[in-house]
Amino acid sequence: MDITLVQGDITEQQVDAVVNAANSSLMGGGGVDGAIHRRGGPRILEECRALRASRYGRGLQTGQAVATTAGLLPARWVIHTVGPVHSESEDRSGLLASCYRESLRVAELLGAATVAFPAISTGIYRWPLDDAARIAVQAVREADTSVAEVRFVLFDAGAYAAFERQL
Ligand code: ADP
Repeated sequence: MDITLVQGDITEQQVDAVVNAANSSLMGGGGVDGAIHRRGGPRILEECRALRASRYGRGLQTGQAVATTAGLLPARWVIHTVGPVHSESEDRSGLLASCYRESLRVAELLGAATVAFPAISTGIYRWPLDDAARIAVQAVREADTSVAEVRFVLFDAGAYAAFERQL
């Protein structure tokens, strides 16, 4: 598997699947989530509502992942995953690693060969960038997957540098 880094906007990536740093409601939010729903159009939210009405009545749990259409985005699917909120008193790194692992598992089930990830939990959920990058790179490297390319899409130079240090 190739691991690549791009500084940019995840909604512009031409990949099979784009991963959304969602929240458990699946009803949209700020950051990556807001950008994906804005650029992807209403079909994504419609599918999220259908998921809430069926298998995910209580929402998507932290560390889990589920796919919808990508709507108007230049991707085929959005894989929604819920990162943990960073905590000083509790080690939640296993949940953060799970987001990457579970997203790749869903990607493989879909037959996605190329998958773009944002730096999950490093925005509104306040995870320190260097630590989040370490966990992300390790989780992806250790994943046993048929996905051919994992592309980390970092919004700014600081996040890009943090991931570059880990590679
Ligand atoms: P979380 O709630 O998991 O912390 P956020 O969406 O708030 O998720 O932020 C995750 C990371 O994504 C942050 O580093 C943020 O700067 C970055 N980010 C925000 N918008 C975009 C975007 N359009 N493309 C790529 N990364 C983005």
